[in-house]
Amino acid sequence: MRIDILTLFPEMCQTVLSESIIGRARAAGKVEINCRQIRDYSTDKHRRVDDTPYGGGKGMIMQVQPIYDCFMSLCEEIGKKPHLIYMSPQGKTLDQKRVRELAEMENIAILCGHYEGVDERVIEEIVDEEISIGDYVLTGGELGALVLADSVSRMLPGVLSEEICFTEESHFSGLLEYPQYTRPPVWKNREVPEVLLSGHHGNIERFRREKSLQRTFERRPDLFDDAQLSKKDVEYIEKLKRKEEK
Ligand code: SAM
Repeated sequence: MRIDILTLFPEMCQTVLSESIIGRARAAGKVEINCRQIRDYSTDKHRRVDDTPYGGGKGMIMQVQPIYDCFMSLCEEIGKKPHLIYMSPQGKTLDQKRVRELAEMENIAILCGHYEGVDERVIEEIVDEEISIGDYVLTGGELGALVLADSVSRMLPGVLSEEICFTEESHFSGLLEYPQYTRPPVWKNREVPEVLLSGHHGNIERFRREKSLQRTFERRPDLFDDAQLSKKDVEYIEKLKRKEEK
C-alpha cells in the first residue's frame, strides 16, 4: 500500500514515520509512505501558500493553487487518482472499522490543513472524504495524518509480527482489550492474576474474555451494540448488570 501525505511540514511527519514499527515496516517495503511539500508547488514568487479570508476574519487560509497542483503531480506520478482524505475537525470521526476499510485500498493520500484551514473550493474539487481524529481542534492536520497513517499501516500484512497482535486488541472485535501483565509477578504488593501463571489455555482465554467484557461494560458499554457476542458473553454481561444493580 502507498500513502502520500500532502503537507507544509513534511519533516514533522518524516520524523515520526521513521521510528519504531512503522519505520521498520517502511524500510522493509511493507508500506510506502511519502510526504509531499505543498509549498514546492506554489507559483507565487515568494512561495506563498496562504492568504487572508474573504469576508474578513482572523487567520490565514491555505490557497487552492499549491494544493491542487501538488495533488495533480501526485496523480501523475502514480498514474491514477488516489483516494484523498482531508484531515478536518469537521470530518467523520476515525474508528477502527474505517481504518480496516482504508487498509484495503492500494493508494490513499492525506491532505493536512494548517492555519485557519483550506479554501473550500479545493475540498469540493479533489477531496473524497474528510476525517477527524476527535472533537477538538489541532493547529494542523499533520498529527491527524500520522494517526491515520499509523493505524492503517499496522493493519497491513507483515507490519506487525503476527496478525493476533491486532485481532485481539481493543476495538478490533468491537470490545476493549483485557488487561495485560509482564514480569515481575509481584510489584508493590500487586500480584499478576494467578490464572495467567497457570499455563491452562482454556482458563486463560475465558479469563481474558470476561475481563474484556467487564472493561467494555464499565468504560464503553456503547460498544456492545455492534460487538459480536456469544450466548456465554451475553450471560456474563447480564451477570455484571445484576452485580451493578445490587
Ligand atoms: N477553522 C477550522 C474549523 O473550524 O473547522 C479549523 C482549522 S485547524 C486550526 C487547522 C487544520 O488542522 C485543519 O485544516 C485540519 O487539517 C487540522 N485539524 C484540526 N483539528 C483536527 C481534528 N480534530 N482532526 C483532524 N484534523 C484536524
